[in-house]
Amino acid sequence: MKMQPGEVESPERKSVLQILPEVFNYIERRIGRFILIFFLLFTLSVWLLVRIVHTDQDDLLIHFLPVGQGDSELIALPGGATVLIDGGPPTLDAVRALDAALPSGIRSIDVVIMTHPHLDHFGGLIDVAKRYRIGAFISNGLSSNQASFRELKKTLEDRRVPRITFGAGDSIHYASSVLIALAPSLDLGIVKNQNEAVLVLELLARNTKTLFMSDATSDVEGAIGKIAGKIDILKVSHHGSKFSSSETFLKTALPRFAFVEVGKNSYGHPTPQALARLGEIGAKVFRTDKDGLITVRSDGATLFVLK
Ligand SMILES: [Zn+2]
Repeated sequence: MKMQPGEVESPERKSVLQILPEVFNYIERRIGRFILIFFLLFTLSVWLLVRIVHTDQDDLLIHFLPVGQGDSELIALPGGATVLIDGGPPTLDAVRALDAALPSGIRSIDVVIMTHPHLDHFGGLIDVAKRYRIGAFISNGLSSNQASFRELKKTLEDRRVPRITFGAGDSIHYASSVLIALAPSLDLGIVKNQNEAVLVLELLARNTKTLFMSDATSDVEGAIGKIAGKIDILKVSHHGSKFSSSETFLKTALPRFAFVEVGKNSYGHPTPQALARLGEIGAKVFRTDKDGLITVRSDGATLFVLK
């Protein structure tokens, strides 16, 4: 992928307090004052609760979607809220995978997160936004001058999807689950390499700690390792690039399961070096190019990997 200087869409990232009125107004419009008051009483941080679905789903499900060379992960939180992180390249693969992973008839996703505006992460989100109702769209605030990025932006505007900028410390709370951004914490105005500014997300749900590393560089990994410590599940950074999955980071994180999202590519992803380092720490590695759709399920006591 190209690593081009980022074009800053909103140089001053909105603080949580600036975001709150927008989120609350939106929720009030969509689901009413009673829910809003209920929701205010039970949280002190940012809640992006757009749709309350009463389902029997009590387990945590994380789906690693087979979208070719790109990233896309769908999280179904205990209680039923859904979060899609990235949408892979501009093909219909993400839409097809979502259709397979979501319960039949579900045509909405509560929160869609774009970790950074590289085509192998946002391209598929255009068709996702056309096909699914999206409650809120979260990004790191950087934009791209690619035509497909403008199409995504226009689609989100046409579909009246609220857009929110996240950085380190911003979080989503839903029932007992927390999804928190651990990066970026740098000034986006000086970003030269977009992979230094990706949204890195930590999910704490059903006694399971998961890190979604997007395309984080080894420098970012170093900082994240110090914050996150030991984890259970790792979405391996940058499709198994040799420049990520550093030994220092992996020896701190010590994931039991590691997921590489990768497809046909000319970069040599996943590299033997990254795979060897994952092997050295004893992580069980799964790959979307070989395993297809992979789902992790946690019931709070046991982690299951289904493929
Ligand atoms: Zn990527």
